[in-house]
Amino acid sequence: MKLSNQYHQLGKSFSQQTLPSPVAQPVLLLWNEPLAKSLSINYSSQEDNEQLAQYFSGNQLIDGSTPIAQAYSGHQFGHFNPQLGDGRAHLLGDITDKQGQSWDVQLKGSGTSFFSRQGDGRCALGPALREYMMSEAMFALGVPTTRCLAVVATGEAVYRERPLPGAVVTRIATSHIRVGTFQYFAARKDIESLKKLTSFAIGRHFPQLKVAEGEALSGEQVVNFFAAVLNKQVPLVVSWLRVGFIHGVMNTDNTAISGETIDYGPCAMMNHYHSDTVFSSIDRNSRYAFGNQSKIIQWNMARLADCLLPLIDEDEDIALAKITPLLQQFANDLQYRYFEMMVNKLGINELSDGDIDLVNDLLGIMAEMKLDYTQSFVTLAGNLNQAEVDNVLAQQSAEDGVDDEAEQDKWQQWLSRWYVRIATDVSGAKDLMAKTNPLVIPRNHHVEAILATSQTSYQENADLSDLNNFLAVVQQPYTQLDNTHNYQDAPSDGDENYHTFCGT
Ligand code: AMP
Ligand code: MG
Repeated sequence: MKLSNQYHQLGKSFSQQTLPSPVAQPVLLLWNEPLAKSLSINYSSQEDNEQLAQYFSGNQLIDGSTPIAQAYSGHQFGHFNPQLGDGRAHLLGDITDKQGQSWDVQLKGSGTSFFSRQGDGRCALGPALREYMMSEAMFALGVPTTRCLAVVATGEAVYRERPLPGAVVTRIATSHIRVGTFQYFAARKDIESLKKLTSFAIGRHFPQLKVAEGEALSGEQVVNFFAAVLNKQVPLVVSWLRVGFIHGVMNTDNTAISGETIDYGPCAMMNHYHSDTVFSSIDRNSRYAFGNQSKIIQWNMARLADCLLPLIDEDEDIALAKITPLLQQFANDLQYRYFEMMVNKLGINELSDGDIDLVNDLLGIMAEMKLDYTQSFVTLAGNLNQAEVDNVLAQQSAEDGVDDEAEQDKWQQWLSRWYVRIATDVSGAKDLMAKTNPLVIPRNHHVEAILATSQTSYQENADLSDLNNFLAVVQQPYTQLDNTHNYQDAPSDGDENYHTFCGT
């Protein structure tokens, strides 16, 4: 395993070069073997666990790594903070896979940096395990996401409200460039660094947009870059909405330009459908509620646009005229892809007239009846069969002309409309639903129960069997395994008193 650090080469204004702080007693708890293999990291947790614990605690540097803390700013709940940065993370460097894609390797919880402010630079074990579980589940659900390569216990206590076991989590991402990274330089009116950052981001994420060696970055390239970033955010947010994911802290420093889910601090999964669902204890105004996420990504992308304007044209009006239609198109794309995804959840391939009402009416019923989002689609697919559809539709045509709509309940009415829509290809609809609707998601109450036992058993004997059993199921969310049913239930109290927190 050999790293380089391309980001470090951008220069001093981009990061602080700083070493991880060693930990007392590193023990490898989780090692993501498939992810390691995809990066050609050929270590096994069985044979090399001590070496891996040294590397992924930060106690020993991997060959070629140059640890840095990256600088960034960010709008937090709408308020701009010009100075955030990695306060407890070290970007060790990058590794390039066989397809030529470079991946950042970053330690989190590995000690303080210039950007730590009052923080201790550390991470508690619970949130590290939670990030591992959630991001693996999301990856398997087909959601673009950063992933965890390892979790190493430090053998040291981390002090939050009480002492907790500490950990270092290793995050893999195509980059850690955030909207807030652009904001950092824009706030400082550092145009040269903004250009360097944009060229770097193009090289890393959109090599097809690169210009010839030695040529300066053009305004047109920056416009194309922005369009490409927008294109990455559409599948991100649409897939969150597909599986019921609530990010919880969509600040601009937690929005990666790669379109990968990043920062699993206060995230949660929705149970019964309601667009206002929020679990984060600090999101008092519900800014980041489930149903606001499309709006917020547009707001965040507008903040990225603000930063790019001076690179597009010296005349701000001209630059704005180039950017504004892209943001409008983005809004349209998000809406179109959202409804397309929602009709896919109903087994319909292509969006056509009346489908938007069909979707919205279903969601209205689900909200009113407090129906579980995941289970509802699984049940609809499970009960779907040609005979039933034919039967309902035959009854309906026999009753044609009789105005009995008022007598049918809303649900039956909706079901008949849906059956009419998919009647020509019921088995095709069933197949599409099976691919679009997960049988199981990483439900909050299961994740929390597993974390509680994992932390206790870690202190006693490092037994993570509950966690590993859970992972084995959520890593195949579209397949009914023997254990799947253990994790499909909605919480009996609807997670009414469930609150998530930022401080990992
Ligand atoms: P987050 O809430 O994880 O998005 O973090 C927001 C900012 O606070 C980032 O600059 C983090 O690096 C910093 N931060 C969070 N926790 C700590 C900590 N324990 N020590 C130092 N900095 C932290
Ligand atoms: Mg963050």
